[in-house]
Formats: sequence, structure tokens, C-alpha cells
Amino acid sequence: MGTLDVARFTADLGRAFKENGIGGLLSHERTLAFARLTERMLEENEKYNLTAIREPEKIALLHYADCATLSAMLPKGASVIDVGCGAGFPTLPLAILRPDLSILAVDSTEKRVRYVEETARLLGLENVTARTMRAEDGAKDPLLREHFDVATARAVAEMRILCELCLPFVRVGGEMIAMKGRQAAHEVQGAKKAISLLGGRLLSVDETPLHSSTLGEMGRGIVRIKKERKTPADYPRAYAQISKKPL
Ligand code: SAM
Repeated sequence: MGTLDVARFTADLGRAFKENGIGGLLSHERTLAFARLTERMLEENEKYNLTAIREPEKIALLHYADCATLSAMLPKGASVIDVGCGAGFPTLPLAILRPDLSILAVDSTEKRVRYVEETARLLGLENVTARTMRAEDGAKDPLLREHFDVATARAVAEMRILCELCLPFVRVGGEMIAMKGRQAAHEVQGAKKAISLLGGRLLSVDETPLHSSTLGEMGRGIVRIKKERKTPADYPRAYAQISKKPL
């Protein structure tokens, strides 16, 4: 491999997963896939902005271990839409750890979508497809609306807005999983109306932080919402309305 110190990265990744109780998810093959992903992301990051996190140890914790905690929440063989995938989070870590999933990664920025698509191809991740679209437009497509077992989103929008972008994609009986910061519980309080109006029911807010013996503790919140009823046809609205007048 090129510029990455793979032995050191392997140790960092193993520690990040172990200290967060998910060490069992890693194998030699998966560790190599994460190393290749890191190399590729750092190389491409030189050309355009993919991530502000550039140190491999931080990437292992804040991108990979963070996204990997979702792995246990996803049913076997689930269809997943990752809304606002950016540089492929949580899409790419989940695709490495869960070959049984089929993941559609969507983002409004074409360059990031092309990067995710190409990276998945280079890593041999056949369970990933990627499309450039705005979520509020894509959710009007009858082939995508109420279609997915799970919608995920990390660091995309405030909870009321995020619900309108994600819940229309989820089939009744499925789930929306939002990866938020430490303000998650507070945001959810303000989003109760939106959740209900869009056909959801709050299941849980998990505020377990990410642990690291070398980097310290990082606060976060994982919000799980069950889809119980179809989303009314009026939603999602145009983005100007969604953001100006959140539900
Ligand atoms: N999920 C990635 C992560 O955790 O690293 C990216 C987070 S980045 C801060 C937010 C991403 O959401 C951006 O790539 C942006 O283009 C995308 N995004 C924001 N609003 C969107 C929308 N309405 N439809 C599709 N993508 C959107």
C-alpha cells in the first residue's frame, strides 16, 4: 500500500473498535478494506474536500468506529438508503462490515457521489450503489418512496428537517436512524410533531459516547424512529419550505 502506515493503522482501528465494544466486527480482510479506504480517502482529499479529519487514528475512531456501531441495529439483508452520504459515511463502513445489506448512497453533490461509487468499486463492495439527488426530490420517485427497510443519515440536518428528508423513503414497519451529536435528545424534543406527522414514532435516543483511551470521549446521539404509517403525499416539501418552516 502507499503512504499509510498499515501496521499502525491496524492497531488504531483495532483499539477504536475494541474500546467501543465492537472489536468482534473486525477481521483481517475487513481491516485491509478499511486501510484501502483510508488511503483512497486521504489521496482524494488532496484534490477536493472530502473530510476535515485527516489523521488515520482519528479516522478510525470518528468515521469508522462511529459508523460501525450502526451495524448491530440493521436487520439481516436490509435495504438501506443513506441520505446525505458525503464521503460515504455511514455507507462505506457499513458496506465493509455488512455484505448482506444493499445500500443506496445519495447526496446532492455529484463529486461526492462519484467518489463513493468509484471507491465502492475499487474496494469490491458490490452492495453499494450511489446516486446524485436531493433527498426531497428523490422521495417523490415512486420507485424510492416508502421503499427502504432503513434510512440512515449522519451529520446532515437538524432533526425536524432530517425527518422530512428521510422518513418518506422508509417503508411502513421500517426505521430511520439518525447519527447526531450530543444535542440529540434536545433536538428530538423539538421534532416530536414532525416525527408523528410524517408517520413515525420515536423508539430511542442512545447517547453512549465514543470512547478512546488516546483521543478522549466524543459525545454523540443515535436516534431511532419507527415508521408506523405512510407519510402524507404533501411531504417532503420543497427545500426552501422545509428549511424556512421546519415541521
Ligand atoms: N454523512 C456524511 C458524513 O457523516 O460524513 C456527510 C455529512 S455532510 C456534513 C452533509 C452532506 O449532506 C453533504 O454532503 C450534503 O451535500 C448532503 N445534503 C444536505 N442536504 C441534502 C439534501 N437535501 N439531499 C441530499 N443531500 C444533502
